Amino acid sequence: MMNPLNEAHRLHLLHSVLCTVNLGAIVLDNERRIVLWNSWMIKYSGLGHDKVIGADFFTVCPGLRGGRVDAAIQQALYNNFPSLLSQTLNKAPFALHASPVAAARNERIQQAVEVTPIAVEGAPRHCLIQISDVSIAVGREKLLREQAMVLRSQTFADGLTGIANRRHFDVAMEKEHRRAKRGGTPLSLLMIDIDHFKAYNDHYGHQKGDQCLIQVAAALAGMLKRPCDLMARYGGEEFAMILPETDVEQATVMAEAIRARAQELAIPHERNNGELRQITVSIGIATQKVDTAVEIEALIGAADRALYQAKRNGRNRIESMLPA
Ligand code: GH3
Ligand code: MG
Ligand code: MG
Repeated sequence: MMNPLNEAHRLHLLHSVLCTVNLGAIVLDNERRIVLWNSWMIKYSGLGHDKVIGADFFTVCPGLRGGRVDAAIQQALYNNFPSLLSQTLNKAPFALHASPVAAARNERIQQAVEVTPIAVEGAPRHCLIQISDVSIAVGREKLLREQAMVLRSQTFADGLTGIANRRHFDVAMEKEHRRAKRGGTPLSLLMIDIDHFKAYNDHYGHQKGDQCLIQVAAALAGMLKRPCDLMARYGGEEFAMILPETDVEQATVMAEAIRARAQELAIPHERNNGELRQITVSIGIATQKVDTAVEIEALIGAADRALYQAKRNGRNRIESMLPA
């Protein structure tokens, strides 16, 4: 079959295609002079053919000299080797802008750059630089990353009180337990439980109960002094506080301050059986000493038993127990 296009037509078509593709295309000769600069490049660089054709590439794009694009061009021209520039390392090597406004703000189009050697009959090797706009993909990736971060923070926060949840506590406990063993430092755990909270709910209603939990959680979490300390909602109306590098004496001081702080809130509780007709907490303390490392379960068990003891001894008080 006869080819319906003659040579002139074919060149014309090729030119139209180059002008239409949604991609930057630059061709350099062996001496890195620009021999082709397509319409996409003109549109986004703001440089017309009169400024670029025949000019030295690095005179037109001085910022690229000595960088990865430069290395890729050398690879293509002199080693006949193609390169794909990693998008994460080279977000926007070319000064390309989506609009004059973006240019004024110096916001470049996010780019993926590919440099390929091309053989030219009767002349030394040339190279083709292809640039695609990956702004949309990059934007989507950023959004996904941000959403993942929000989800992550939600999976580690308690839905009602906003403080760390049980899962966060478990992860932090593992980490601090390991750190204490490795560093030979003490580790204390406080279990904090609101006194007669079932009666509070029965008397004031579940919604008031929720508000009380929010208020107590915020007040207690506000008492932490160091970034490594963690206050978590362990379950229901029970809170747990992890205090790394804290011995039993220091933990006792902290526990007493927490007990006093809860009382200071002066939340009325008509049906608290104690002397006070207001919300109080009981606290169990357990400390892993430097010389006797114990399992996490043993530490939690000891804090639980100490809490039980505090309840038995009359509530609104603190007790400590050695983990066995
Ligand atoms: P004690 O002094 O021995 O701790 O008595 P208590 O009544 O506080 O202990 P108990 O464990 O019997 O009751 C805990 C109550 O906490 C039962 C439950 O209704 C309430 N509770 C647990 N989670 C929530 C919550 O998210 N919101 C509300 N409003 N109440 C909760
Ligand atoms: Mg309780
Ligand atoms: Mg309880």
